[in-house]
Amino acid sequence: MYDDLADFTADIKKCMRCGNCQAVCPVYGVTRAEADVARGKLQLGRALLEGRLEPTPRLSALSQRCLLCLACLDACPSGVATCAGIVALRAAARKGGGLPLARRMLLAGLARKPWLDRGLPVARRAQKAAFHPAGGGYRPRFPLGLDVRRIYPALPARTFLAGIRDLVQPPRADLRVAFFAGCMANYVYPGTGEAVVKLLASRRAGVVLPAAQHCCGYPLLALGDPATARAMAASHVAMFHRLGVDFLVTACGTCGEAWREHYPELLRDDQELYDRSLALATKVRDIASLLAELPAPGAMLPLPWRVTYHQACHLGRGMRVGDIPVDLIKAVPGIDFAPLADPGRCCGGAGSFQLFYSELSRAIAAPKLADIRNTGATVLVTGCGACRNQLEGLLAGEGWPGRVMHTAELLALTTP
Ligand code: SF4
Ligand code: SF4
Repeated sequence: MYDDLADFTADIKKCMRCGNCQAVCPVYGVTRAEADVARGKLQLGRALLEGRLEPTPRLSALSQRCLLCLACLDACPSGVATCAGIVALRAAARKGGGLPLARRMLLAGLARKPWLDRGLPVARRAQKAAFHPAGGGYRPRFPLGLDVRRIYPALPARTFLAGIRDLVQPPRADLRVAFFAGCMANYVYPGTGEAVVKLLASRRAGVVLPAAQHCCGYPLLALGDPATARAMAASHVAMFHRLGVDFLVTACGTCGEAWREHYPELLRDDQELYDRSLALATKVRDIASLLAELPAPGAMLPLPWRVTYHQACHLGRGMRVGDIPVDLIKAVPGIDFAPLADPGRCCGGAGSFQLFYSELSRAIAAPKLADIRNTGATVLVTGCGACRNQLEGLLAGEGWPGRVMHTAELLALTTP
């Protein structure tokens, strides 16, 4: 799967071209281009399989114009595996070249943890030189291929994993939990990782943090490189299998989905790794879901804030966390919860999509930003670092005076 578009022949044939995916596709909603929606991409895949199209840079570029937001997957009455098919189309189209240099560099960097670890201090120095402080973060002084109207977060002095021990053990641990931090908590928002550890320790969980963990590999899979994503999946499954934990917790829907859905699929041809990936998949929980399963540690500290919540696509439609994060937020004394009209609408960030399609990403985000402002909330909470990055960057760029934080960070503030 993912390596050979021919594996999706049945799915491509299942598409009855009803157009239901048009109604929910955030990209199509802005561009109105058939090639930007699942139906159009499936037809591009069919033409490639039938030899009516060649893998070209143009086809590769068309295949990349998708958020992999899963909205079409949920809306398809024929049960077409739209997103997996689009990932396979990307891998097939890439064979004709055409992936721009910036995206190839991103792929190379994400696959090599030492590059990211050593690159963080370099990027931090570069941020201070090429950006100026604004809106609680940094705004680019020059375009640099970035959106000069938005704010980018201040990079931390060190990674989350460098600042924490391999094992955080409360005095009387009742269970053992592995924490897979993911790139956003490790390299951009270490406060999210610290909050997860604090919350788990307060529930008497020993937290295991393998220092060698790296990117989950989903961004590589999504950009059309299943072979490297498979190698990363194999290394993580071997690493976490040895830990003998009760749960494997994530603070990012994409990482959680990678562990639950994509690792078993990628490792299907290696029976031992496949079996281990399936066993680990049953232990994977988003941090909000695991907190809801564990006994609360006692009285919570109040937070007198008006709060709203954005549901990340890969948490809502991927990991199916449902209302769990909202219920946890509403249970905090003092919080005045103001729901979004459409909490599950994609923010347009989609990992690197906001970097490479900044105008389109901004247009997709516009209704979400208006929805947030209309609530009158001063705190926006979300369970995904990439969504946080997108929304706080765009909102701060517009002078929105509120704060954006991860669900774990808000809940950690209520924990003595
Ligand atoms: S909703 Fe499904 S069946 Fe309908 S056009 Fe889209 S992919 Fe095809
Ligand atoms: S995954 Fe989202 S952006 Fe991509 S085609 Fe489906 S609805 Fe559109």
